[in-house]
Amino acid sequence: MNDSTTGKVIVITGASSGMGQAAARYLAAKGASVVLGARRVNRLEALAAEITEAGGKAIAVATDVTKRADLLKLVDTAVKIYGRIDVLINNAGIMPLSPLERLKVDEWDQMIDVNLKGVLYGIAAALPYMKEQKAGHIINLSSIAGHKLFGGSAVYSATKFGVRAISEGLRQEVKPYNIRTTIISPGAVKTELLDHITEQDVQKANQDYVGQVGVPAETFARLVDFAISQPEDVDINEILFRPTAQE
Ligand code: NDP
Repeated sequence: MNDSTTGKVIVITGASSGMGQAAARYLAAKGASVVLGARRVNRLEALAAEITEAGGKAIAVATDVTKRADLLKLVDTAVKIYGRIDVLINNAGIMPLSPLERLKVDEWDQMIDVNLKGVLYGIAAALPYMKEQKAGHIINLSSIAGHKLFGGSAVYSATKFGVRAISEGLRQEVKPYNIRTTIISPGAVKTELLDHITEQDVQKANQDYVGQVGVPAETFARLVDFAISQPEDVDINEILFRPTAQE
């Protein structure tokens, strides 16, 4: 491979399923060294073994993004083993949708902790290394729901609008250090994201819709590679994609 994904050290949160897992496989096949974080460590280890057996480079690190110390350990491990961190993909996220009036307050807290604070903790862990390196790339997962509201998405959308605000603020601030930032806002992608919706009517409506129009997680993997493999003087600030059939 002679594109510029080759040889990069890429840390991915939420690599145990869905888009994070697909990105890990795709980027490792392109010659990146991938450092995989999530809570389900068995899955991460199986993925790391699969990548290694195929001739790639991967390590698994048990990571709960709601814990700042876990993100520090994830990024520190990447630097210890591979010598630097080129890209951080803040991909871990949850989407327990529900109408506000149902008062699923614990789920509001969880979404804020994972989708917003998890992204901030990732930035806090990677930024000191990237400033020192005078190079780096931070990719944050927003969503179509970070651009518009739909049924039961008030709190989820708040977190994903927030990710866009954090990313744009970061972009403006880290220019002096030659650090790139990219927001990726996917539409409907077939993953495990809907499995954790606890309101059955909301879950069914979303499963029916995503089952109908959703695209595979590899779609995301190709697009994240596109952002990473641009020449260093080009920063893809935002990618928004939908399945062609999506409203
Ligand atoms: P999945 O549910 O398949 O993957 C979510 C990943 O996040 C899992 O690997 C999970 O790992 C991880 N995760 C959840 N909570 C934590 C935590 N506390 N600490 C560490 N990791 C955690 O969903 P997707 O692949 O779809 O989601 C990836 C991202 O894409 C999310 O940010 C989501 O909001 C966003 N997105 C998804 C869309 C879609 O249609 N699928 C559309 C728009 C955006 P584990 O449970 O092992 O910790």
